[in-house]
Amino acid sequence: MNQQIAIVGAGIIGMSAARALQRAGTAVTVYDPEEPGAVCSFGNAGNIAIDHVRPLARLDVLATVPRMLADPLAPLCLKFAGLPHAWPWLWRAAVAARPAQERRGTRALGALLGAARAAWDDEIKLSGLESLFHTEGALVVYEKAGSLAATAADAAILREHGVRVDMLSADEINQRVPGLAQQAAGGRFYPDAAHTVDPRGIVTHLAERFVAEGGTIRREKVTGFLLAEGRVAGVQTAQRAETVDAVVLATGLASRPLAEQLGARTPISGERGYHVVLENGPPLDLSVTFAERGFIATPMNMGVRLAGTVELGAGTAPDWRRAEALLHHMRALYGRSDLREASRWTGDRPTLPDYLPMLGASPLARNAVFAFGHQHIGLTLAAITGRLVRDLVLERPVEIDLRACRTDRFGRV
Ligand SMILES: Cc1cc2nc3c(=O)[nH]c(=O)nc-3n(C[C@H](O)[C@H](O)[C@H](O)COP(=O)(O)OP(=O)(O)OC[C@H]3O[C@@H](n4cnc5c(N)ncnc54)[C@H](O)[C@@H]3O)c2cc1C
Repeated sequence: MNQQIAIVGAGIIGMSAARALQRAGTAVTVYDPEEPGAVCSFGNAGNIAIDHVRPLARLDVLATVPRMLADPLAPLCLKFAGLPHAWPWLWRAAVAARPAQERRGTRALGALLGAARAAWDDEIKLSGLESLFHTEGALVVYEKAGSLAATAADAAILREHGVRVDMLSADEINQRVPGLAQQAAGGRFYPDAAHTVDPRGIVTHLAERFVAEGGTIRREKVTGFLLAEGRVAGVQTAQRAETVDAVVLATGLASRPLAEQLGARTPISGERGYHVVLENGPPLDLSVTFAERGFIATPMNMGVRLAGTVELGAGTAPDWRRAEALLHHMRALYGRSDLREASRWTGDRPTLPDYLPMLGASPLARNAVFAFGHQHIGLTLAAITGRLVRDLVLERPVEIDLRACRTDRFGRV
């Protein structure tokens, strides 16, 4: 009989895992009270960001905390009111930022990201996603010569971890990003990066293929697990209890209660970001990061999407001034006060303090696999995560060393 697998969460991570396990011949049911891709996976910048090998838990980033507190519109900001709540997470981030830990984190992310693009290329073919991806690379623009020069060490670290980085002159940037009001200082091109023209559309499409090929999606929230003899024997929702052979926790930011029930201390926190879609954006053919301003402009089906910014310690109410700041930046960059907003969105990235996902068997039950905490790169890592989850669930050897992503690394409960 087919193994019965429950996947909790229908974001980009859960649906990628669902497709990989379905192709491996298991019977998969996905649980989520929301529509597939309706939460964090809805509104990201759409970048297959293979360059993000350096965890943000770093001393140079933590050194900016005083500035983060002072400027509520800075690309990285820490809400003063949220400080007491954010403090334990920040403390753990500081521990993870020690140089040896940072190097370990960089190696772990480097290994995952090194496999990310090829995994997406496979998934694109297997799930027929060609029309949703552009695979010609991504650009980074530096406006100031000083900040460009200061990134030489960063480029060296990226290359050491296998990321191809081409440096571009001011003229090359101006040719590739036409219409900028000021001459840029220069930039970078990542030939192996890519972008999607519809982040939510990818999840929807994966969900449709999953159902068309025999998978089940239940619009139900999982409230707990039935545990027996060190294994998860079933999943519990308000409507039913279902017997399973294995379970995958792909619940993003909401993972903590279920992960703790399965024995792992889970200090996950939301890093709030925003996007604005332009009604009349400039012509772009690649995604472009504006380094000093800390946001990405990506050409999508619905218009040019401006996305980014990190808000730590955010309350429940969005600070829409941070979305408006994206529009102001774009107007300034292009000298176009006529740029208009078509829509806006906010979402919270699911981030653990060391900026590594939890990927592995839970401390309490070997047949419960965690796949959450993908921070700024959940879209990028979704296809490789799906493949790793498949192998973890089927207890096959995994292709990447996942020790740094262990589920008990913050302790057990
Ligand atoms: C502004 C912004 C820009 C970004 N840009 C990029 C980018 O360019 N590239 C990139 O790679 N990443 C980017 N990201 C990050 C990326 O969007 C996330 O890492 C990714 O969406 C996380 O996916 P997920 O499936 O883990 O979480 P989610 O999409 O949040 O999915 C989790 C799902 O679990 C469900 N769930 C929770 N609890 C339960 C329960 N008890 N029972 C059943 N279901 C449950 C939720 O309803 C939800 O649907 C960006 C994020 C933001 C905010």
